[in-house]
Amino acid sequence: MQHRKIAFIGAGNMSRSIISGMVSSGYPAEAITAANPSRPKLDALSNDFGINITQDNLEAVRNAEVVVLAVKPQLMEEVCKHLQQADLNGKLFVSIAAGIKAARLQQMLGGDYPLVRTMPNTPSALGKGMTGLYADSQVSDTDRSFAGDLLGQVGDVAWVDEEDMINGVIAAAGSSPAYFFLFLESMQDEALRMGFDRETSRKLVQQACLGAAEMVCQNQDLELSELRAQVTSKAGTTAAALNHFEDNGIRELVSGAMQAAVTRAKEMS
Ligand code: NAP
Repeated sequence: MQHRKIAFIGAGNMSRSIISGMVSSGYPAEAITAANPSRPKLDALSNDFGINITQDNLEAVRNAEVVVLAVKPQLMEEVCKHLQQADLNGKLFVSIAAGIKAARLQQMLGGDYPLVRTMPNTPSALGKGMTGLYADSQVSDTDRSFAGDLLGQVGDVAWVDEEDMINGVIAAAGSSPAYFFLFLESMQDEALRMGFDRETSRKLVQQACLGAAEMVCQNQDLELSELRAQVTSKAGTTAAALNHFEDNGIRELVSGAMQAAVTRAKEMS
């Protein structure tokens, strides 16, 4: 990853995760500045990673080549308008705020600056995230590559060519950890009804989930349907369970749920 002077505006959970990934993969701490209104999070970042900290967003931005906008969406307008007091020319902006379109962010910043909009998900906090990225037409290949590497610090990344596809990223990766939680919750409920205690029922379903995810990741040459076929003996127990899912419309259910997420994402952006 290239080393550029970078400012994080907002030193919350996402910024901390990204900064942690950057520093542990050798990014120079002196090239990173975090800005936040309150001290405790800044002090923790300074102590843990040795980065620069400030309570003044303008100071952070003036010294930076890349600005990561990492405040809550409802604060973004106020924060960006304030940043207009600095000379923003020549800087690359990377937004991690959910639901704010690139054009709207440009408007808030008061100029046509190169901007990458990203959509990380919550497992990013564990370095296991999945982030969708969209670059507007002014973003150079070098800037694209920098932004991809940046979000790559907290997991994997996928670029989308059309900004609307960010809504698809939300449906497939942003909201989807919770789909898996619901599935596991339903499985655990049934395991409890079968007589397992809480701890054992949780262990059974979470370890199966972890193992299945690992098998998916380690078998990139296999389609998911092939992987499923490999673990399904004809007329066996797995086949019985899968037939029940199929007969009861699991695919339509999943499709409808993802479309509902897309619809809601459109309404919210
Ligand atoms: P967070 O932990 O609440 O962090 C936001 C930070 O912004 C807080 O430390 C807050 O400081 C600070 N802040 C408030 N006002 C500010 C200002 N005027 N100038 C500079 N900083 C200010 O939230 P987060 O989870 O990191 O989320 C950050 C962004 O990432 C959000 O836009 C969210 O939509 C997006 N996102 C997060 C996730 C996720 O998994 N967490 C996933 C996808 C997208 P105080 O606490 O001191 O007020």
